[in-house]
Amino acid sequence: SKFAGRARVTIYDPRTVGVDRSSENLTDLLTHAVERQLISVVYQPIFELDTGRLLGHETLMRLREVDGRAISPDVFIPAAEQSGAIVDLGMWVIDQACADMARAGLGTVIAANISAVQLKAPNFSLRVAEILNRHGLAPHQLALEVTERIDLIPEPQVSRNLDHLQNLGVQMWLDDFGTGYAGIGWLRRFEFDIVKIDRSFLNECQTAQGVRMLHGMVSLLRSLGRTVLVEGVETEEQKQLLRRLGVDLVQGYLMGRPEPISEVLRGRRNLVA
Ligand code: C2E
Ligand code: CA
Ligand code: CA
Ligand code: CA
Repeated sequence: SKFAGRARVTIYDPRTVGVDRSSENLTDLLTHAVERQLISVVYQPIFELDTGRLLGHETLMRLREVDGRAISPDVFIPAAEQSGAIVDLGMWVIDQACADMARAGLGTVIAANISAVQLKAPNFSLRVAEILNRHGLAPHQLALEVTERIDLIPEPQVSRNLDHLQNLGVQMWLDDFGTGYAGIGWLRRFEFDIVKIDRSFLNECQTAQGVRMLHGMVSLLRSLGRTVLVEGVETEEQKQLLRRLGVDLVQGYLMGRPEPISEVLRGRRNLVA
């Protein structure tokens, strides 16, 4: 069979064996990441552009090797999606973010990234509801960021989860707008509260053509009544440009880097002091 053939290739090609080995190790690491405390969450602030008011934070997952070395999310997230480990890891992140939020009394929104794999799990929305309940948070304090890079539409279970979450009052945000193949169709189908324009469009703004492209996207989204967030803001010039284009929300290294909860709280104390 073709599987036997593939197995022979794996055994005799040393490069392939190496690749399989390391992805096996990563899968093993991901499966035990929570119990071994190798996983953590960092928070990046999101601001209203015209008032400078803090809207909330995006949660970003971090994974360390046993020896302390960080593994990039661009490596471990796809691996976790493929092995299915993302279902439990993603739940852990939402739980942790809600716990931090409740403990800190931030009173703002926390946005967690979710994968298509998670939305396909039948009990996903129920588990989210249970977490909100347990931490005493209002549903609108949680936002779930769904990336446009995946095509969710054909799965009835996904629609059921999305509908249930929206009925609960959990916010749904569309991430990485402009990079996926679902494109504008998504905007027709789901009432996303906020649309995040991928930072690649901001990076193209050194040219007049790039600025026109971003301007067009912002205008389209705003004419559809969507709140527009641009991510990856690194310079003051970019921020000024986004102000001229009428962007609602900004996120990026210029305003704040992703930080552990201890740093978020320390920064807040400094603001108050
Ligand atoms: P994303 O959701 O688009 O997150 C934004 C990424 O841009 C983050 O990278 C963030 O650290 C980075 N970033 C923020 N501001 C700036 C900036 O001004 N300049 C630049 N160059 N980068 C900036 P990170 O943390 O490495 O995460 C990469 C991706 O991994 C995320 O992209 C998201 O798709 C995925 N990811 C991270 N955490 C989770 C999670 O808990 N669940 C799921 N499903 N995916 C996650
Ligand atoms: Ca995101
Ligand atoms: Ca994004
Ligand atoms: Ca991205």
